[in-house]
Amino acid sequence: MSAVQLNYRPKGQACGCRQTHWSRGATEESSQLAHLAFGRLWAATASGMPASETAWADLCAGAHLAGRAIATSRTTAAHALSYQLTSAHGVLHGQAVALFLPGLLAVNLHDPDRRWRPPDALGDDPCRAAERLARHLEAFGVSPSPYAAGMRDLALADELVGSVNLARLSRNPRALDAAPLHALVAHQLSPSWRDYEDLITRVDQEGCGDD
Ligand SMILES: [Zn+2]
Repeated sequence: MSAVQLNYRPKGQACGCRQTHWSRGATEESSQLAHLAFGRLWAATASGMPASETAWADLCAGAHLAGRAIATSRTTAAHALSYQLTSAHGVLHGQAVALFLPGLLAVNLHDPDRRWRPPDALGDDPCRAAERLARHLEAFGVSPSPYAAGMRDLALADELVGSVNLARLSRNPRALDAAPLHALVAHQLSPSWRDYEDLITRVDQEGCGDD
């Protein structure tokens, strides 16, 4: 395994772990695994890249637990959006999944019928949780939005929404049809990507449902 793969594989698992909390395919057992995994991964990366053998061990253990959770829950919208970025734009998988993760966290937490529980480290305030996750990803060397990663061409919103994996998208806890998904992607490609309150408003305006 190359150094780059080694660097990004746990990052990919960390991003998958986030989604396995909220996936419609989650079970009681996969949720428990996801919470355990998140705790290990969050602690291991609290100050950026792991700096000790213990932190690396936590990262690997967390990635393993996350992988087991994902095997049941499968992945959701962040993965659905990621494949085109990897296949057509060469973005490494873990980074590609992370690009929409804070934005999706805000949108998925902003749901009156929410049935999934976010990790305690993030809390359930949509904007604060998204900001915490974005800061954590940045400290870990991962861009938390396409804009932050230098992708700023709005045409990418059409491309990604047009190529999205519908099976994965359908496991997102809030229904994201083409219009709200496009609003989300376009917002995250803009300089105001970090304004998660504005993101929630725009996605809601496009009819993001809960079914
Ligand atoms: Zn993945």
